[in-house]
Amino acid sequence: MLNVPSQSFPAPRSQQRVAAGGRSKVPLKQGRSLMDWIRLTKSGKDLTGLKGRLIDVTEEELKKHNKKSDCWICIRGFVYNVSPYMEYHPGGEDELMRAAGSDGTDLFDQVHRWVNYESMLKECLVGRMAVKPTLSKDYHEEKKVLNGILPKSQVTDTLAKEGPSSLSFDWFQTDTVVTIVIYTKQKDINLDSVIVDHQDDSFRAETIIKDYSYLIHLGLSHEIQEDFSVRVTENVGKVEIILKKKENTFWKSLGQSLESHNSFIPKEERGLFYRKCQLISKKDITHDTKLFGLMLPPSTHLQVPTGQHVYLKLTITGTEIVKPYTPVSESLLSEAQEPVLSNNKCIYFLIKIYPAGLFTPQLDHLQIGDNISVSNPEGSFQKSQMEELEDLFLLAAGTGFTPMVKILNFALTSISSLRKVKLMFYNKTEDDIIWRSQLENLAFKDKRFDVEFVLSEPPSEWNGKQGYISPALLSEFLIRSSDKSKVLVCICGPAPFTEQGTRLLHDLNFSKDEIHSFTA
Ligand code: FAD
Ligand code: NAD
Repeated sequence: MLNVPSQSFPAPRSQQRVAAGGRSKVPLKQGRSLMDWIRLTKSGKDLTGLKGRLIDVTEEELKKHNKKSDCWICIRGFVYNVSPYMEYHPGGEDELMRAAGSDGTDLFDQVHRWVNYESMLKECLVGRMAVKPTLSKDYHEEKKVLNGILPKSQVTDTLAKEGPSSLSFDWFQTDTVVTIVIYTKQKDINLDSVIVDHQDDSFRAETIIKDYSYLIHLGLSHEIQEDFSVRVTENVGKVEIILKKKENTFWKSLGQSLESHNSFIPKEERGLFYRKCQLISKKDITHDTKLFGLMLPPSTHLQVPTGQHVYLKLTITGTEIVKPYTPVSESLLSEAQEPVLSNNKCIYFLIKIYPAGLFTPQLDHLQIGDNISVSNPEGSFQKSQMEELEDLFLLAAGTGFTPMVKILNFALTSISSLRKVKLMFYNKTEDDIIWRSQLENLAFKDKRFDVEFVLSEPPSEWNGKQGYISPALLSEFLIRSSDKSKVLVCICGPAPFTEQGTRLLHDLNFSKDEIHSFTA
């Protein structure tokens, strides 16, 4: 049974008060948590007022339902009566009212792209739009795509200025293999940029090019073997996906186009894609934080870029719940050593279990061999921010340490200009410090790395630094190796920590380009 605290949610100091894009969440009334909403949807109460009927909704009808007490919103062609949900919405009633009586798809995609509203609001479904809402621009234009060449108009001005004006793919075959080639014409493409999934009858290859996504989505004409390889020629931006034929027959075509095949659109407009992974290991790291190892399916190529996160999805009492988590390496600097599985098939997460939380107790109950869905990566951190870096300062609080793991590994193994990496790690108590001995060992072995622990609830015998993030702690810690050294400060932790820390960094004259704040 889930234990749902009765006080107002989120708790006054909970990170859950800030959501996607730094948007403030509003305090919810007692009994209005997400779990309370799930309970209400299971209670059998008629939430639409239509006694279980589904209707076709015209645009005129939709417009009439624009009041708090009678509020309908269309999301992806489906109309929901969101009035019963108003008090449970973490973004507040006013935010929902912005889409009252209209098509809220764009609004929901901007702010809540990763929340599965179809599942959360299924008991509020009124019906479908009688007249389909306008199809997105890329859908129409996709129809005009010929031979894998995209029309120029589909590429926005921004990308045209900075990147390719068109994208194309090609394919060829030998007796045993079929090779799909994508010419991105971009230099900063690498194996992290390509995500391939072959599941049942769908073959999906998404290539991320700056802020854009190019998708090949096909029902292949013939069967292929489970394993395939992905190759990237970085200096010309050529991606090759090499599929092994199951039978040595000649393929007349690659296959049938599936949804959004051959589309090239801004990344944030592409729906998140999930694949089922298997829990293969679970290890205690501190009293409440565990290292979870997930195995990707054999027919998936996915490497989460440094500093990016994914979403994990579980179905909790019939509702799909999604939360973001940042993959780490299995241990500090493990990527520089022998990988456990040489083919990058494992993703590791350091996750703190909150006994009264919605998602993490369920995650903790998973048994080895159980499945959990993992999304494509998201996030704004770019490795290029670390080019020619001399000083790297990492300010982490609690599990805000997770993005720092790969950043630290990458900096120490791949940035030749690097002089100093300093981690200031804020925790409540000594028992909360993740990988303390690994951090201390690394500092001992690598003279470029230093770590400082700061406790907010120290025991009387603690000799180290203490308190919350403050001007005094920062100004003493953030010493550049020279006046003009190229610096990056990364900061991640509970929202108040990150917000306050970022303000202090500005006060200390670090420029915008020198600060990377990890937020939702
Ligand atoms: P929630 O249900 O969200 O509860 C969180 C807290 O609020 C708990 O303390 C809980 O006790 C309290 N609470 C819950 N309900 C109530 C209530 N009704 N009244 C009062 N208090 C209540 N976390 C990690 O551990 N590792 C990561 O790598 C990681 N990466 C992240 C990456 C990003 C980009 C972001 C934004 C967050 C990340 N997080 C990470 C945090 C993670 O997404 C979840 O927020 C966290 O796991 C809590 O989830 P939960 O559903 O278990 O808890
Ligand atoms: P915690 O409650 O154990 O606190 C750790 C430390 O954070 C404290 O010791 C204190 O120094 C600081 N802190 C806490 N509350 C503060 C406040 N109000 N003002 C200033 N400093 C404060 O932390 P936790 O439970 O491990 O939570 C970690 C947080 O990091 C979560 O909110 C999680 O969502 C966030 N996170 C974000 C990302 C991301 O990429 N955006 C990644 C991982 C974790």
